Amino acid sequence: MTERLRNGGCACGAVRFTTRGEPARAGLCHCLTCRKAHAAAFNPFVVFRAEQVEVQGETASWESSPGYQRRFCPACGARVVNNNGDEIEISVASFDEVGAFAPQYESWIIRREPWLPPLKVPQYETNRGD
Ligand SMILES: [Zn+2]
Ligand SMILES: [Zn+2]
Repeated sequence: MTERLRNGGCACGAVRFTTRGEPARAGLCHCLTCRKAHAAAFNPFVVFRAEQVEVQGETASWESSPGYQRRFCPACGARVVNNNGDEIEISVASFDEVGAFAPQYESWIIRREPWLPPLKVPQYETNRGD
């Protein structure tokens, strides 16, 4: 069985990553930290198990909540991957391919911009319940 490989990276190309296989889930987050960290109104993301992701190049990081490392390229400042325990979260926009993933739910919709219509997927006021 061959697992699908997908590539992506930061804006300047100093940091690259490859994912293997399919993500555990895909979401879209409107929380304040995602807004500010991405300087964007929302963050569509996918979550892989850590062993499915290989990162090349040097990253800097900061901890946005205990155990949650948001990693970025020190040269261009672009967000690349987030380590959260044994999971890695990657922004959909960091992949080279457009249209690879669509969100399966939206979280932190209390922070959604009022001009942005909801997607036809499950909606969570704050974090997605587990
Ligand atoms: Zn870069
Ligand atoms: Zn968020």
